[in-house]
Amino acid sequence: MDFDKLVDVYEELEKTSSGNQMREILSDFFKTVPKDDIALVSYLTLGQISSEFESAVLGLAEKTVLKAIASAGAISIKKVKEIMHSKGDVGLTAEKVLQKKPQTLIPIGKLTIHDLFDTLHKIVKLSGTGSQDKKTQLLVSVLQKASSKGAKYLSRIVLGTLRMGAGDMTVIDSLAIAFTGEKKNKEHLERAYNICPDVGVIAETLARDGLKGLEKIQVHVSRPIKMMLAQRVKEWEEVVKKIPGTLAAEGKYDGERVQAHKTKSGEIMLFSRRLENITDQFPDLVEYIQKQINAKEFIIEAEILAIDKEGKHLPFQTLMQRRRKYDIEEYIKKIPVQAKIFELLYLDGKSYLNESYKERIKQIEKIVKKGKHLTTADRIITDDVEELKKFFSEMLDDKQEGIMIKSLEGVYQAGTRGWNWIKWKKDYSQDMIDTFDLVVIGAFYGRGKRHGTYGALLCATYNTKNDTFETICKLGTGLTDEMLASLPGKLDGDKVKIKPARVIAKKEMEPDVWFTPTIIVEVLAAEITKSPFHSCASGLALRFPRFLHFRDDKKAEQATTSEEVKDMFEK
Ligand code: ATP
Repeated sequence: MDFDKLVDVYEELEKTSSGNQMREILSDFFKTVPKDDIALVSYLTLGQISSEFESAVLGLAEKTVLKAIASAGAISIKKVKEIMHSKGDVGLTAEKVLQKKPQTLIPIGKLTIHDLFDTLHKIVKLSGTGSQDKKTQLLVSVLQKASSKGAKYLSRIVLGTLRMGAGDMTVIDSLAIAFTGEKKNKEHLERAYNICPDVGVIAETLARDGLKGLEKIQVHVSRPIKMMLAQRVKEWEEVVKKIPGTLAAEGKYDGERVQAHKTKSGEIMLFSRRLENITDQFPDLVEYIQKQINAKEFIIEAEILAIDKEGKHLPFQTLMQRRRKYDIEEYIKKIPVQAKIFELLYLDGKSYLNESYKERIKQIEKIVKKGKHLTTADRIITDDVEELKKFFSEMLDDKQEGIMIKSLEGVYQAGTRGWNWIKWKKDYSQDMIDTFDLVVIGAFYGRGKRHGTYGALLCATYNTKNDTFETICKLGTGLTDEMLASLPGKLDGDKVKIKPARVIAKKEMEPDVWFTPTIIVEVLAAEITKSPFHSCASGLALRFPRFLHFRDDKKAEQATTSEEVKDMFEK
């Protein structure tokens, strides 16, 4: 398939600010895509060249892309920089430069989706000395073949700035409509996506083998599984109602969740909450897992905590310093970690997703050799609320967030916030409302002291049913002057000219600047109230929201959902 077919779709998507229209455009297009191309097209719709967890890094800087544009257009880099200066965007620069292509002796032909893919994956694989030049040459070869409009989007894809506003769920919905004729079939796709969060695999399986094919998708070690989440309750009594009889409770540790995979060949891979491959960040943890888990092939989950020399737990913020690309060895010594294993999803050829929690922890206890840096979650099994409360106090004394209450018979509900897990945090016991993870979708310019930067952020929840982002508050409190000054640097890469298609906002809440939903902030609020100005759950807002910190471990679709807010409001 010609890349230009996809380029026409990009053009349409760029103009729409309606989520439904976006799904219509995509599903109409998917119907016309050959089966061999559907996986590639699904990734490219999201501006990616593979699933997110495969971390295909092109490693191309703006400077390199401009150099490639100059070479493809046979004009000087000086001239390209001038055009870039007036256009302010690499994509528009490429379009302008390549409007008049230099004549070649042999016609180069049109750029196909397969061509583009092969070339970009070749670029990913290049490293070491001389690789930048080779990367540039490969990029020149596809830019020469692309149309001028194609070059515009191609430049944005390679720089990771193609912001079409579609998310994984938008693609899933559109695939359901295109290949099954009905959006309601998206449930089947979602089920498959929860154990195989790779839109390319889902698209190709559906196109080739239909819904029956999707049912056959299995857990695959080295491909992350969407993580199970916990429900919240307002009163202890509700816990007992939801999980009657004997139950388990574990510490709710304030660290970073990790899903660790060990393949048959002995390779260990670590995936974050947003399913990114973070193996390189924790070589120490890889070693502990290798040495202390006695099994050939498995998938486990744990919370990683920073610890001091005595093994005492340190706050989440300390652990965040381990999120780095450089000086890793130095930081292993500076900030040692401990992983508390709490889940087993797969073991030596068998999926444990549908086994009871009781069975899963029995296996964990069998295979883990406990030590200072790798151990299992603290746990009690009880039917006595008083004992539960005592355990909760102990966890608070250990500076943890609270406890996780788990149904002994419960299965692992991948990608779901089900009732088999209930969280109980210290904020609830102090009668404070919970914290919210909100996605930043816009900003208002500051006045007075805040002139010249953003004074407040427009924040939204995620509506899982409609795949939309709904506004819930304007956030200005809790942001220091220093933080405010740094906001443009953090947010402006996501700036877009029109309201992103999946955002639902009332006229009264129109911000000065719109952002593609990307950045998550954790916010504390005093109350949820009804509001005619916000779109969350048809009119709910947060009162007195206060910024706590950025949650770089979450992506937009992992924000607090509108359904959760509605639930909390009703309670
Ligand atoms: P939060 O912001 O409280 O982490 P969340 O929406 O990310 O909320 P929840 O489903 O509310 O996730 O809570 C589960 C999270 O708690 C997990 O993602 C994990 O990081 C953490 N956690 C800590 N201890 C445990 C445990 N023993 N069992 C499961 N999850 C745990």
